[in-house]
Order: sequence, then structure tokens, then C-alpha cells
Amino acid sequence: MVNRIRALQKALTEKKLDGYLVTSLTNIRYLCGFTGSNGMMLVTRSRAIFYTDFRYQEQVKTEVKGCAKRVLERDLYAGFPVEELKGVRRLGVEKSHLTLARFELLRQQIKKTKLIPSEDLVLQLRRKKSPQEVALIENAQRVTEQAFARVLKLIKPGVTEKDLSLEIEFQFRHFGEPAFGIIVASGENAAKPHARAGNRRLKRGDCITFDIGCRIDGYCSDMTRTVFLGKPSEELRQVYEAVLNAQNEALAVIKPGVPCKLVDLAARDYLNRIGLGKFFGHSLGHGVGLEVHEEPRLAKTSNQTLEVGDVVTVEPGVYLPGKGGVRIEDMVYVTRKGFIDLTRTSKKLLIL
Ligand code: ZN
Ligand code: ZN
Repeated sequence: MVNRIRALQKALTEKKLDGYLVTSLTNIRYLCGFTGSNGMMLVTRSRAIFYTDFRYQEQVKTEVKGCAKRVLERDLYAGFPVEELKGVRRLGVEKSHLTLARFELLRQQIKKTKLIPSEDLVLQLRRKKSPQEVALIENAQRVTEQAFARVLKLIKPGVTEKDLSLEIEFQFRHFGEPAFGIIVASGENAAKPHARAGNRRLKRGDCITFDIGCRIDGYCSDMTRTVFLGKPSEELRQVYEAVLNAQNEALAVIKPGVPCKLVDLAARDYLNRIGLGKFFGHSLGHGVGLEVHEEPRLAKTSNQTLEVGDVVTVEPGVYLPGKGGVRIEDMVYVTRKGFIDLTRTSKKLLIL
């Protein structure tokens, strides 16, 4: 935790800020370990102070590390400890997290310090995963794979998407929680990339897309597989093969130093070449960590470059309106030599 706070302090110097107010709970957790629902952190070039309210004063004694701790009234922003800003002329605030209402509340109280809406410096630090963080992501992925293996046994005609998503959630809850809304999309619903599990009943010939991940000890996993109930149509079978090939094209270029957009384009160009590009309307992937969507982005518009320590998803998909769709998503860890695929579940076409 101390190292993470130091890294932020170093970034402050580079950004010509004297201090930074951390308001995202995810960023706060990353910096000091706090897992509660109300917290705020002031990091200056030489100090780090965590604030919370009475409800958490016991919890923070053991949980929060590497900084001073203070208990304030519940509305941390209304009674901001202005006196602790001594010597801080330029205070960065997280413009993508601090609400306008809170920004105004702060501005009314803070007279001598300039509030500077800043980019998310902690999110940038979070991008490079330590081996311990990767182990936590892998652990979440193992639980995801176990839940997936169990739910496959329940697939038969008449079962609803919701039946399957509830079983997955039940499995996740033994260890943690779903990292995002569980997607179980069958038949024509699978043509909607972000369909939620509904009341549709499975029938023979369906494709069924599962996009699932859980969060354990703060860290997320993310995996997509499409399986078939009974023999798929020839068209869907070909789509499956195309998506798998597209994913392999993208995986083949993953290594440190490669522009993220080239990874996206490797999959996209392949699908374009075989005439399916117009059915792949989203970007290829995203970073995964304390949040299921973080940096970097594997998108055709990305100007980021892959770095050692990135954990990213690679998830091409092809969606045919009215017929169904296929998406295959793995999570990979970028290493000096290339990458390690953190996803073990088979990608062989599975007909149940
Ligand atoms: Zn996913
Ligand atoms: Zn994803």
C-alpha cells in the first residue's frame, strides 16, 4: 500500500500538483485497502490521510494501511477538513468520479487552494498488475470456470436463461459476487451483445452465450463462451469458427510494445476479409482488475500501447440479427515474452 501511495505522490510531482483528492472507492481500496462504502483520501507530496465516518472506525483499524486515518461526520464533503490543505496550492480532483455537487461543496469551503479537475491518476497506476494481483484475478477466473462447468450440465430444452444465470450467481456467491450483470443470451437473443438473462426457454438448435465473471477479494474475472444446444445451423457453425480464428489472430500479435489498436485490428481485419466485419460492432477488449472494465482499451481508436503487467480481455464477436451470435472471450496477462492466457475453459465448439 505504501508503494502505491508513493507512486501516486511521484505522479503528483510530474503533474505539478501539490495534492490529490481520491474519491473513487475503487481507487481508495487500491491505495489503502479500505473496502467500506464511505471514504475519501487526501494525498499530498509528503502525506496521505484517509477519511471515513463513525460506521467504519473499527474496520479501518485493521484494514487501512500506509496512511493516517481520521473519522469525520458522515458527509465527508460537507465538512471537509480544510486545515489539512496547508501548503497545498494546487489540489487535483478526480474529474471522472467527483460529482459536480460535491465539487461545488468543496469549492465553497476551500478558498486558498485551487481545485484542478484531473485525469484518473490512480487508474493509470492500477493498470500494471503485480504478481499478487494476477493471482487474485486467476483465482476469480477459476471460480468462474467451475461455475461455468456446472451450469453446462443444466442445459436442456425448456430451461430458461434466468435458471442458468441464477445457478451461476449461486456458485459465485460461495466465494464472492458477480463482477457484472450475468449475461446468458440464447437463440436470437445472442445477437444482442449485452442481453441480460431473461425468461426465454432454450430449444434445440440454439446458440447460448455466457458472459460471466466474479469478484473475489476485490478482483474481477471476465469470460465469454458460446455453446450450442443440439446441432447448430451451418451458418452459426461457420460463425463460431470465424470468431475463434479472429481471436487467434489477435492473440498472435499480443506482446509488450504493440499498439492496442493493432490487436483490435488483427481480429477486425480478419472478420472484414471474410465478410463478417460489419457484424462485429464493439471493440476487442479491455483491461480487468479491481474493476471489470479498466485500462488499457483494445479498440481501433485506442492510442495506448501494451505493457508488461496489463491484464486484458480478447473478445471478438459476430452477431447475426434474428439468428444468434457468437462471442469468445479470454483474459490474458501481458508478460515480457508475450502473454499468458489466464482462461482455461476449452474453446472447442461444444454441442450439448
Ligand atoms: Zn465479458
Ligand atoms: Zn469483457
